[in-house]
Amino acid sequence: MSERRVDLHLHTTASDGLLSPAEVVMRAAKLGLAVIAITDHDTIAGVGAAMAAAEAVGGIEVIPGVEINTDVPHGEVHILGYFIDREDAELARRLEHLRASRVARARGMVAKLAALGIAISFERVSELAAGGTIGRPHVAQAIVEAGYVSSPTEAFAHYIGRDGPAYVEREKILPEDAVGLVARASGLPVLAHPSDIANLEDLLPRLVESGLVGLEAYYSGYSADTTDYLLGLARKHDLIATGGSDYHGGAKASFDAELGIVAVPYAAAEQLFALHRQRQSTKLAAAEQ
Ligand code: AMP
Ligand code: FE
Ligand code: FE
Ligand code: ZN
Repeated sequence: MSERRVDLHLHTTASDGLLSPAEVVMRAAKLGLAVIAITDHDTIAGVGAAMAAAEAVGGIEVIPGVEINTDVPHGEVHILGYFIDREDAELARRLEHLRASRVARARGMVAKLAALGIAISFERVSELAAGGTIGRPHVAQAIVEAGYVSSPTEAFAHYIGRDGPAYVEREKILPEDAVGLVARASGLPVLAHPSDIANLEDLLPRLVESGLVGLEAYYSGYSADTTDYLLGLARKHDLIATGGSDYHGGAKASFDAELGIVAVPYAAAEQLFALHRQRQSTKLAAAEQ
């Protein structure tokens, strides 16, 4: 049998993905993936439905996860959290706060767009987010629908990209803060798509000190050289090398990668499972003392 395939970075309608959690699981199962992780932006709302779907379809395991966007002076750093305790009150409260700040930010972008002559309504953007974490892809979709551009990519390029005239910053939280938050919620913090982070080698030791356990070395579009470089950093800092596609439902967004497209070694999932089990039993033993 060929190696069991895994994809540890997936989005659903709980944030800016186009497929529901159950649809993502069905698609992954059909593609023959053995393990997937649901990692929506600032929410764990899709995890329950995904796990239930996996149970129903069989042969596929879902790791509960989240992706938290954080900011550093020269860009963004995204922290993945695997096996987070979905009952953790602090995590729930912090994620809720981040989602609320995204609503205000989306309103801000709609206002900036209006000043530029791009008339879209916040109501439509909110409708497109359909109760999930609201983000720029929903704003982009509304701009496309209104006929101002022909694709979301174009909306990002002209208006809401980081340097665009209608861009509004997200609530600023530090990567160390997100790593600590995940760790306190019994989760395993992993650095997402690290290759575009400026000063990565300065940042990494700080994140490790805060509790980082892994780094995404296999990712859509990463060359063999990039992956090798990241594998070297993982070894140096004793981190688990993970990976995923960052699938958002494909098709509409040209930047999006297909589910399962990245060759992630099964060992990545195995090491996460093992570390999670080890931490759980340590916690249990401590509780029994
Ligand atoms: P936000 O979290 O609201 O800042 O939006 C970031 C999300 O927008 C990313 O997670 C991607 O899903 C999407 N995105 C980022 N850059 C682009 C782009 N150039 N074209 C289309 N979608 C993008
Ligand atoms: Fe996204
Ligand atoms: Fe990300
Ligand atoms: Zn992502």
